[in-house]
Formats: sequence, C-alpha cells, structure tokens
Amino acid sequence: MVKGTSISDPGRMRINDIINSASQGKDLTKEDIVQLLLISGRNDLDALFSAADDVRKIAVGDEIYLRGIIEFSNFCSRNCLYCGLRRDNHAITRYRMPEKDILLSAHYIRKLKVSTVVLQSGEDESLNRDSLCRLISRIKDETGLIITLSVGERSFEDYRAFREAGADRYLLKHETSSAAIQKRLRPGAPFENRLKCLYWLKDLGYEVGTGIMVGLPLQNVGMLADDILFMQKMDADMLGIGPFITHSQTPLANCPNGDPDMVLKVIAIARLVTKTTNIPATTALGSLSRDARLKALSCGANVIMPDFTPLQYKRLYDIYPGKSDDNTDVETFMINLHAQITKLGRIIGQGSGYRKQEIK
Ligand code: SAH
Ligand code: SF4
Repeated sequence: MVKGTSISDPGRMRINDIINSASQGKDLTKEDIVQLLLISGRNDLDALFSAADDVRKIAVGDEIYLRGIIEFSNFCSRNCLYCGLRRDNHAITRYRMPEKDILLSAHYIRKLKVSTVVLQSGEDESLNRDSLCRLISRIKDETGLIITLSVGERSFEDYRAFREAGADRYLLKHETSSAAIQKRLRPGAPFENRLKCLYWLKDLGYEVGTGIMVGLPLQNVGMLADDILFMQKMDADMLGIGPFITHSQTPLANCPNGDPDMVLKVIAIARLVTKTTNIPATTALGSLSRDARLKALSCGANVIMPDFTPLQYKRLYDIYPGKSDDNTDVETFMINLHAQITKLGRIIGQGSGYRKQEIK
C-alpha cells in the first residue's frame, strides 16, 4: 500500500509513473491497476482523479449526457442474492407499468429535452418478445428517442427482434468477473451465458453497456483489476460502476455496503484505460453519498441517469435501499442538476451521446 506524501517516496513515484503511462495511452497491467486501487494518500488520490478528469476532457469533452430511466416492471424470475427484486423477496409489491404509462413517461423525457430513454426491469417472464417489440416501436415512432434496454438475459432472437423494432443500446452489467462470486451470488445464472449475451448484443450492432458492483462480499482489489481489464477487452461503449448496497430483505443483509471511495477509484481507472467510453455517475453511488456522485463527474464520469419512473412505481422498484425512497420529482432533480453541472464548469450534452469513436 502506498503511504506518505513525500515526492521522494519510491511508492509515490511508482504511482505517478503508472498514472502517466495510462494518460499517455499505454496499457496497464493487472499489477499496475492493483497499485492504483490501493492508493489512499490524498495527494495520490488527487493525482489519479485529476489525470482521469484530463482524459475525460480530451476524450469525451465537457458534455454530460442525460439518460432518462423508466423502471417499468419489478417482477423478476431470477434470485440474485444482492438484489431486492429477487424472486424470493416476498416483502415487495410487484408492478408492471401499463404501456400507456410508459409512453407518458417517454413523452415527458422528450419534453425535458433528454435524448435517450432507458427501459429497465427485472427479468419479467411475462414481457414477451412481441409486447416488448410493440413498446419499443411505439416509443420510437411517437418520440424519436434513442432507446436503451436493460431487461437482462434474453435469447438471440429476442435481442434481434428488439433491435429491429428500434432499440439502439443495451445495458447488461457483467457484475463481477470473478467466477467464484458469480456462482455464489447469481444462482442458476452461468456467467458464460451473460458473456454470450454481451457478445450477441455487440454482433447485433447495439451500443453495449456493461459494468460492475464494487464491494460485493468476497471481492478483492485483484478481482476489481480483472473487472477493469475485462471492460477494456470487451470494448464496451458504456460502463456502469456503482457500489453494492446492502438490502435487508436479501441473504446478503449482514454484509457491508461498498466503499464510495473505491467506486471513485474504479471509475477513474476505467476512464484512464478505456478513454472514450460513456461512464455514468451512478444512482447507486448517489444513494450512498450525494457528494460522491458529483465527485464522480470530476474523476471520469460523463453521464447522469435521471429517474423518470412515476413515483407510485418508483417507490416499489426497491433494488437497493435509498433508491426507491428518494421522493424528489424529476423536474426538481433536473433543475438542481443543471445548477450543479454549471457549477462544475460543464454543460449538458445536446446530441445523441453515442460513444465517441476517436479522441478529438
Ligand atoms: N434485471 C436486469 C436489470 C435490472 S437490475 C439485470 O439484472 O441486468 C440493474 C442493476 O442493479 C444490476 O445490473 C445490478 O448491478 C444492480 N443491483 C442489483 N442489486 C444491487 C444492490 N444491492 N446494490 C447495488 N446495485 C444493485
Ligand atoms: Fe433480477 Fe436483475 Fe435483480 Fe438479478 S439484478 S434479481 S436479474 S432485477
């Protein structure tokens, strides 16, 4: 672990070398990344965050892109041990938004000049291919929004049909690249299948998002380094990096929350090594610490996902605590957000917010 703040300290010089190499576009080894994940001194953290912020500015500019999320069903047939929507959590009321309510929310997203809608749900078996395709094409026809889906693992044929119906992007976090943790925390959901889905999505021409939870039980910095290398190798367009947050109605009720500072380090390193990806300052990070969510925008992140789920549904989308009990209406959230973004010297992105293909 790097200690001390003196520039003559060999540990600090090594950290500076690693940060400089990454900034110059050189590949980092797993060992390099572990060194960065272990830094704790204020000066080293500042050096890492400011290098990531410089890369962000050069690679993706000052725009912060907004994606309006609609959490349209909280039914889930899976049983991920970390998640409040898991099948065996009988303590929550389940809902499925009627199509007309989803469309109203999509129109509202358009009205507030957000160019992308993210449709997210549990793995709801009753959302069959035809009904989702109809929803996608209605949203596309009526609003022209860019459509991101986040509805979990489906068949190749489903993904192809959704794409043909008008879906543009897909979020499917790999959650952790540790086979051991996957096996424990995602029963009946082999990691190979999730990977297969990610490659299908890429083949079908979606912009693909993957990502992780930081602070899962049994996770260590070596695994987080593997995750960062995985995201680089996968060449994903978007990276969702947030803390694991303990939910009392799950088997992980006694495990501690992820550390927001570790999340910031992962975001910063992910920016250094992937350069042009779109990286949200995640809602989960904001649930643990509002400051950390803002800080994320200054150490690599360039996307925010305001929640447009109508309040009566939003409070039931109880993936993790703190998420569903934020009663701020989205219009107020957006007004505050504009002020915060201006204060940071940044601007709201106006265009589509696709991943930039080349560094300007
Ligand atoms: N069912 C879909 C999409 C909804 S879940 C899927 O699983 O892909 C969306 C994300 O919520 C997951 O990718 C996971 O990273 C996150 N999540 C679930 N439980 C969480 C928890 N306890 N803390 C933080 N994030 C959590
Ligand atoms: Fe279902 Fe997604 Fe939660 Fe797993 S993480 S239980 S798939 S909603």
